Amino acid sequence: MKTLQRIGQWTCASHGWTFLGSLLIAVCLMTAQAGADEPYARSKDYDLQHSKIVLAFDVEHKKVIGDVTHTLSVLKDGTGKLAFDSVGLTIQSVTVNKATSKFTVSATELTVQLASAAKKGDKFEVQIKYEGKTSKGAYFILPDKDYPNRPAQIWTQGESEDTRYYLPTYDYPNARLTTETILTVPAAWVTVANGKLIGVRDAGNGMKTWSWQESVPSSTYLITVVAGEFDELKETWRGKPVTYYAPKGRGDRLKINYGRTPQMLELFTKKLGVDYPWEKYAQVMVDEFVAGGMENSSATTNTSSSLIHPKLAPEYATGQDPLISHELAHQWFGDLVTTKDWGNIWLNEGFATFMETMWSESYFPKDQSEYERWSNIQQWFAQSDLWAKPIVRHDFDDSSEFDGNAYNKGGLVLDMLRHQLGEDAFYRGLKHYLEVNRGKNVVSADLAKAMEEATNTNVDQFFSQWIYGAGAPKFDLSYSYDVAKHQVTLKVKQTQKLEGRVGLFRIPTTVEITTAAGTKAFPFTVSKPEEAFWFAADSAPLMVLFDNGGHILKSAECHKEKKEWLYQLKNASELADRADAVQALAKLKDDADVDSALGETLRSDKAWGVRATAADSLGERKTPAAAKQLLDALNGAKEPWVRGRVVAALGNFKDNADVLAKLESVAKDDQSYRARAAALQALGKLKAPNALATLDAAVKADSPDNFLRNAALRAMGPLGDDKAVSTLKEWAVVGKPLDTRQAAIYSLARLQKDDKQITQQIAGYLTEAHFPVRYSSIFALGERGDASAIPALEALLKSDDLSIEMVPMIKGQIAKLKRGPGKKPAAEAGEDGEDASGDAGVGKRLERLEKMLQEMNDRLKNIEERLPQKK
Ligand SMILES: [Zn+2]
Repeated sequence: MKTLQRIGQWTCASHGWTFLGSLLIAVCLMTAQAGADEPYARSKDYDLQHSKIVLAFDVEHKKVIGDVTHTLSVLKDGTGKLAFDSVGLTIQSVTVNKATSKFTVSATELTVQLASAAKKGDKFEVQIKYEGKTSKGAYFILPDKDYPNRPAQIWTQGESEDTRYYLPTYDYPNARLTTETILTVPAAWVTVANGKLIGVRDAGNGMKTWSWQESVPSSTYLITVVAGEFDELKETWRGKPVTYYAPKGRGDRLKINYGRTPQMLELFTKKLGVDYPWEKYAQVMVDEFVAGGMENSSATTNTSSSLIHPKLAPEYATGQDPLISHELAHQWFGDLVTTKDWGNIWLNEGFATFMETMWSESYFPKDQSEYERWSNIQQWFAQSDLWAKPIVRHDFDDSSEFDGNAYNKGGLVLDMLRHQLGEDAFYRGLKHYLEVNRGKNVVSADLAKAMEEATNTNVDQFFSQWIYGAGAPKFDLSYSYDVAKHQVTLKVKQTQKLEGRVGLFRIPTTVEITTAAGTKAFPFTVSKPEEAFWFAADSAPLMVLFDNGGHILKSAECHKEKKEWLYQLKNASELADRADAVQALAKLKDDADVDSALGETLRSDKAWGVRATAADSLGERKTPAAAKQLLDALNGAKEPWVRGRVVAALGNFKDNADVLAKLESVAKDDQSYRARAAALQALGKLKAPNALATLDAAVKADSPDNFLRNAALRAMGPLGDDKAVSTLKEWAVVGKPLDTRQAAIYSLARLQKDDKQITQQIAGYLTEAHFPVRYSSIFALGERGDASAIPALEALLKSDDLSIEMVPMIKGQIAKLKRGPGKKPAAEAGEDGEDASGDAGVGKRLERLEKMLQEMNDRLKNIEERLPQKK
């Protein structure tokens, strides 16, 4: 799963963050608030082998009408009943081998009585007829009076434990079954489910019945059903159908965003040496999706926000490829070979993240994947809550297992393993892992075993420190040169605190030493708290690079002089080493050499990631000299993804007339929409004197997908000019596009804070069916600080259509309003246990939530340049 935040794009208004495009992780962190997933695989009473799933939909009442027949084989002698996960469904009848059976229903289970105790190996057909208005699992996105032209869409999302909300079944990854999915829908609709399309027949009354069949077994969380009004684009790859679906009317966006899918199929099949395992590959883009993407077997579902407008799509360095390659990679890692339990979820997510890199490396210039790796390392260290947790863990009551360790660190660890084993051995190991575990559920030991079998290299120690251990090495590095001995002494200290699961690291690496005579690399292994290494060098080194190229997940304090960093910035051959130099130099404040060196890098480094990092660093310097460097570089910054960063960096220079004039002109007519949007944001942030006129003009003008209007509306809040209120009120109302409303609500909450009418307007949006607006409104009210919103939020808590993760969000905002402005939650000191109903409990959960949101923000900031976003 590519875990976006809830739903396409939404705004966490209380923190001023926009949640955009197809990004990582957040929802699952949210979900963790509601109740953690089962950490260990269950012991099974039966083996579910096949499910025939017959569904129809009562669209008006948003109900699923189901008839499922499970074929299963009993695993234990004396089994007298069969339990199925089932939440919120009304079970109408159950038969076992066609005979009516007794059953009982609890809040979470359907239990079916067998006529007599069964023996191991006995087979049963259990047919369950049921219906339900689903609160999770299956979602109905339909036209309504406010959005009459919206294409109808019904879609499901199973991972992690939500299939049971629309289908009574065995709902844990350690079962594998084949499926038939038979869907009766209005004749004009399209359906997509797992496997091959067997046929479509007329069902009378303006309805049609679609039959799908999946003959390769996979887990129940990978079952998918999509039905609705879609445009379809068909291609083939090696004779298999490769199809793409967009909500009706957006079919022209499929090719430009998704057209590289067959090339990815080819690459992955070749690299892995294991054929794409399924009968077809469909990608269905749906509105208001609850994740970024979901790798259902043979039929991925992605957020429709990945369907970037054709005029905006070229403004993103890698387009939608990170999302597309991630979900495609899961078809091998996750779907063909599946984690046995949620505690080993990195075996799905770490691989999918790693394979994004593989695609990047193969398709884009070399510096793209290098920049992604460098950024991912920075990003992982920025999420301090990940530090103490190992990648494999079974204690996720407090924070979801779908975290930055499973994804980001998992991907980086695989990349390190590749670096250590070498390309050939590594892929030989992966091929073996996939082949011996094909169609099975795995734990991390299965990967270690396969790698060792295929490469004759023992990886136990590697797994011990990186997979079962926590943290990462923090190095303190210094070197000296002995003229007489012609020798470099490198001193390496590991400074990470050794506690809990964090230990010392043993890592083979290299040091690259450059002298006037040339460059040499020396392999060696670090393993101790403090050690020294000696390397021959004919003269005093110009540059010493520990772990050159930045392959290790590490942080390093390098004791180097300014001139060494300047040399490294200009001369290091690998991106990571130059990007490190940018960051080290940026710490030297009030230094004209640094300003001009960073400016030079911004204008001329060969890698865009280094140029963009230099722009960020110049922005943080906030000096007139830094502003001048940014202004001088802007003309040459052609790529929109760099241009946007340069403009955003200019948003740090208050009261600089040159900067403001440039921002005005970029906002009005730059060739890049992303640069224009960044300029609008910067003008708001800087509270520029004439900004309101510029923002107003941008709101009035049209742009692809309201791109500039949304940016301007969102900038009005930070601008803080109450004259924007009438515009914001106008664009917040029902009927306007949802993302535009979110931007308007975000800013509206920040203006005329004593005006209770505004509070009431926003509170009025809490009960809407449109989840993105709901989310924005909940956080906007918390931010606004007007306690008169409390009754509306409390009423919302009682409504029956809240997603589970919404409850703590709402409670958090109520607590914030009750505390009053500027007060921190009364958690920490005097926290007395787990009484979640009391103030302390709410405060504690709010803190946790706020921390999670902060983490999300960190992650999002980092992946902004990798993934599409809308301002
Ligand atoms: Zn994933």
